[in-house]
Amino acid sequence: MAGTKLYDKFGRPMEYMRLAVTDRCNLRCFYCMPHEGMKFVPRKELLSYEEMLRLTRILVELGIKKVRITGGEPFVRKNMYGFLKRLTSIDGLEKVNITTNGAVANRHIPFLKEIGIDTINLSLDTLDKAKFEEITRKDFFDSAISTYKAVLAAGMKLKVNMVVLADKNKDDILPMAMLTKNDPVSIRFIEEMPFNGTGERDVSFMNHKEILNHLKQHLPKMTLLDSKAGSTAKNYAIKGHKGNVGIIAAWSRTFCNDCNRIRVTATGGLKNCLYDNGVLDLKRMLSDGSSDKMIKEAISEAYSKKLKDGFESEKQRLSNITESMSSIGG
Ligand code: SAM
Repeated sequence: MAGTKLYDKFGRPMEYMRLAVTDRCNLRCFYCMPHEGMKFVPRKELLSYEEMLRLTRILVELGIKKVRITGGEPFVRKNMYGFLKRLTSIDGLEKVNITTNGAVANRHIPFLKEIGIDTINLSLDTLDKAKFEEITRKDFFDSAISTYKAVLAAGMKLKVNMVVLADKNKDDILPMAMLTKNDPVSIRFIEEMPFNGTGERDVSFMNHKEILNHLKQHLPKMTLLDSKAGSTAKNYAIKGHKGNVGIIAAWSRTFCNDCNRIRVTATGGLKNCLYDNGVLDLKRMLSDGSSDKMIKEAISEAYSKKLKDGFESEKQRLSNITESMSSIGG
């Protein structure tokens, strides 16, 4: 059964899971959650590590090859390193990556490399310490930078994610892109999405075309790179630079055609798309005595109904978008 693939009705295979291991975070990025009063779920409602490991084994048997650990901030959950060691040992799972804000991960990078994690996605919206504090409402800039350096020093792949907002960090686009000159890093500029925990959206949105034009004005020697099937980013090489830049049209949703992803929220909600509001309660099935076979059948059924794109998924939601990205698993 291992490696049997599931396909949706558009012929897209299910190969990649983003697994949120917690909804809690040590930052309060303004585009992700309110400064105060964020309601996190009671701990007992989170998937336990045992449940996540069992679910991953089941999903690997259904064709999942790659897992990206996300949250909330993965490293605020206790015993994360022990869990990661067990996760990376699952037979048939080819790749485990992690998305982190780098606030507390810096000292543990060599361990992550040792257990077979080869790529870190680091979220960083500016290279200016004061602006970092304004955006994240926390004082972790130095730790985030030391995580950046530690990942490169360990020889791991590093992707940096920057959420772009015209009135906040447009001026940071170029300095961030210039990191690619000497560092073998991929700097990815992400369109803001309305997952900010409030349902209100009062931002100076910058779309993928505007981001690209801005980059091209300053870096005319950019050339489009081929992208892998399922990739969310359009990547560009810059002549003479060691790294590259990418643009993720997360709100414009230009990459749904070959989507191969599912998401599992920290409370065990299965999502076929970032924009749907859950297609299956896996926490219930993992704790009510359902067999692996029953769980597989339920996942197959849910995945077969994956909608065409993020616009369809948003249209068919049962509620408006009010959740924080930290509860979805970005
Ligand atoms: N704490 C980890 C981190 O910061 O990378 C993982 C979780 S975080 C929710 C995952 C990614 O979602 C980060 O790169 C973050 O910047 C991005 N994100 C959060 N809210 C967003 C929003 N409203 N629009 C676009 N990206 C968002």
